[in-house]
Amino acid sequence: MDLENIIFPKGEKLSNDWFTGNAFLTPLLGSDANNEYSIGSVYFEKGARTNWHTHPKGQVLIVTSGKGFYQEKGKPARVITKGDVVNIPEDLEHWHGASAETEMIHIAITNCKNNVFVDWLKPVNTEEYAEANS
Ligand code: MN
Repeated sequence: MDLENIIFPKGEKLSNDWFTGNAFLTPLLGSDANNEYSIGSVYFEKGARTNWHTHPKGQVLIVTSGKGFYQEKGKPARVITKGDVVNIPEDLEHWHGASAETEMIHIAITNCKNNVFVDWLKPVNTEEYAEANS
C-alpha cells in the first residue's frame, strides 16, 4: 500500500461503463437548494481512470493521496499528486485517474447544470494511457 492518511472510506466500485479498472466512490455531499454541486472522494487503484468526459458546469479536483494524471484533450497529461488542485472548465474534454504504478485518491467537486453533472465519452485507450505514463 503506497497511500497514507486516507481520510474517507474506499467506497463503492464505479461502473466499468465509465471507468477503466477499479475506481471507487464515497459520496460526501449531494447537491441541494444552496449547493449546486456534489462532492465525492474517488479512489483509483493502479491503472484505473475515468473515460474521457466533460462537465457542463466544470469540476474541481483536490488530490488527497497518491499520484495520478489529469489530461485535457490535445494536451500532454499532467502528473497530479497529493495536495494538487485542478480547476476544470465547463465542456472541456478530459480524463483523470491513477498512474500505472501508484494509486490515487481525489475529492471531486462537480457542478451541475440542469441536473447534469457529467457527459461520458470514450474510454482512455491503452495507447493514450501508456503515453501519459511514459
Ligand atoms: Mn472530470
